[in-house]
Amino acid sequence: MVDYIIVGAGLAASVMAERIATKLDKKVLIIEKRNHIGGNCYDFKDDNNILIHKYGPHLFHTNDKEVVDYLSSFTSWDIYNHEVLAYIDGKKVPIPFNFNTLYELFPSLKAKILEEKLLKNYEFNSKMPILELKKSTDEDLSFLADFIYEKIFVNYTAKQWGMKPEEMDSAVTARVPVFIGRDNRYFNDKYQMLPSHGYTKMIEKMLEHKNIKLMLSTDFKEVCRVEDKTFYLFDKKFEGRVIYTGQIDELFDYKFAQLPYRSVDMKFESVDKEFYQEKATVNYPNDYEFTRITEFKHIHPTKASKTTILKEYPQEYKIGENTPYYPIFTEKNQQNYNKYLEYAKEFKNLVLVGRLAEYKYYDMDDIVKRALEVFKEEIR
Ligand code: UDP
Repeated sequence: MVDYIIVGAGLAASVMAERIATKLDKKVLIIEKRNHIGGNCYDFKDDNNILIHKYGPHLFHTNDKEVVDYLSSFTSWDIYNHEVLAYIDGKKVPIPFNFNTLYELFPSLKAKILEEKLLKNYEFNSKMPILELKKSTDEDLSFLADFIYEKIFVNYTAKQWGMKPEEMDSAVTARVPVFIGRDNRYFNDKYQMLPSHGYTKMIEKMLEHKNIKLMLSTDFKEVCRVEDKTFYLFDKKFEGRVIYTGQIDELFDYKFAQLPYRSVDMKFESVDKEFYQEKATVNYPNDYEFTRITEFKHIHPTKASKTTILKEYPQEYKIGENTPYYPIFTEKNQQNYNKYLEYAKEFKNLVLVGRLAEYKYYDMDDIVKRALEVFKEEIR
């Protein structure tokens, strides 16, 4: 006997399950395809005793105090400010591109002129998306924008998405804006920290409730059937709510169109030395097939003679072959998604939440905020 079925055991699903179990005292059944909880936030200690993020680097950052307060019930935190270098013209320089990057890549006289131009046109400590900066009509700024676009964005974006920055939603490249200041950190948010014992432990704690039952290694469709816009659990009509956090096109058997995603082949390597690189992540916009190398020891400091690195090779998502990581933003894809959304509205007990179900490039804090909102507005 359950009141709610939740499909998926990632962050969105876990927030929903925890709230329903705790606040409503209702019974929740979580059905998860994988053999572990945590979705793409899943982390674990590898053979080098280093906490690694199986599905790529996940760095928590937010300006939202409510999100921090909520998660703090399930974990303590370690302060962590993520820094990234980009390998450009044979040098590793800080990104987001900022004044420090400018002085490392240009002779100081030229850098000074460009710095002054930037300060004359934009506010100190502000952020400029590259596609905005490229609109500048000033000769020096237009030169700088083209330089940054060519050296940092165009080839990385081609590898990551198979597209040009201007072919995609401008919000994607705006995630890594040009920074009119000297802050080398990848994010500027007020709260930048990691769960002290990792995301998996935090999520385990969220799901540790007598009202929550978890079925791992189970495809939703092994136990549930959808017929005439009605859900059946083990062949019995299910009258409760179904909270679905998986791919919406898969739920509806690709009825309209297959929604494209970008996938990544995550290749981990153990390296026989104490440290491999200077910072947690080094991006390679113009060299190699991979986009970036992440060294987890910088993220979760560990005493170990070896180190673990991850090289990310972006690739097309293929059903049943790899993992859908990123929804791809184009107008056409959004229109197809909207068809699914309209169809979903015809199910009276279906709720969609999460990066896959909503086809949105959510960060972890967005997910928590969104799930708390859905709980307040649609469930409670
Ligand atoms: N990007 C880029 N060069 C970089 C870093 C980022 O062109 O060195 C662009 C690229 O299109 C990427 C987007 O900015 O997909 C967002 O980058 P972010 O690091 O936020 O991506 P995520 O960590 O979510 O994969």
